[in-house]
Amino acid sequence: MAERMTLGIDVGSTTSKCLILKNGTEIAASAIIAAGTGTTGPKRALDAALEQAGLTRGELAAVTATGYGRNSFEGADYVVSELSCHAIGAHALAPDARTVIDIGGQDAKVMRIDAEGKLENFLMNDKCAAGTGRFLEVMARVLELDVSQLAEMDAKAKSIVPISSTCTVFAESEVISQLAKNVDICDLVAGIHASVAVRTAGLVRRLGIVPPVCMTGGVARNAGVVRALEKELGVPITVSPESQLAGAYGAAIYGWNKTKE
Ligand code: ADP
Repeated sequence: MAERMTLGIDVGSTTSKCLILKNGTEIAASAIIAAGTGTTGPKRALDAALEQAGLTRGELAAVTATGYGRNSFEGADYVVSELSCHAIGAHALAPDARTVIDIGGQDAKVMRIDAEGKLENFLMNDKCAAGTGRFLEVMARVLELDVSQLAEMDAKAKSIVPISSTCTVFAESEVISQLAKNVDICDLVAGIHASVAVRTAGLVRRLGIVPPVCMTGGVARNAGVVRALEKELGVPITVSPESQLAGAYGAAIYGWNKTKE
């Protein structure tokens, strides 16, 4: 059989992700660019993935766009909702998972999927920055850190400085006032992660936890949030190294299934 390459692009609010799949199973290339919809991010992610795979756009059997900015991406063969692609991608990354927690830059979703990866039910928070990647970005900026440094700070925490405000703006003021009291920054980071975990756990409990649980989206890269969420929910959470690419992965699989028909 000739090689058939399908590309999935997940145009997020914060990042652009692209993944090329060979014959529906093998990841041939992937790229994550820290710039989302309305920026050059989607094109840069696409170009980077094509270059990595040594392909031109014309050689792709299907291009499938998903994510918050999917409708602004030009030239897609298929445009598919985030929920569908995340469910397909999460199932491919963690085939046993029945509950998928996806925390992105601007929203948090909890999905229940069946044994085949079909979406059964979901709940979403896209109204409030608390409990999303945005909350972590705001807090990291106040602490003069990058989001990628938060997990290692959390790992050094000796206790947790609780953050009581649920609103991002008030929580930011709270973090600033804790800094003024000279609290340990690692303990403060642990408090910030616990706050995200409490918010997310509320959403998960409303939907009902069916194990095994996996986590996708960019925030899954933050092991501090994953640990805090495991503690809050009392269940282990699987995280794949490709967690942030779940939507793009699902989109590439969707395109593969369509071209097979
Ligand atoms: P979206 O699809 O909504 O644009 P993503 O799923 O890509 O968002 O998630 C973006 C979020 O992921 C950021 O707000 C940030 O909190 C988190 N993130 C991104 N990269 C890292 C990293 N290297 N370490 C920890 N967290 C990260």
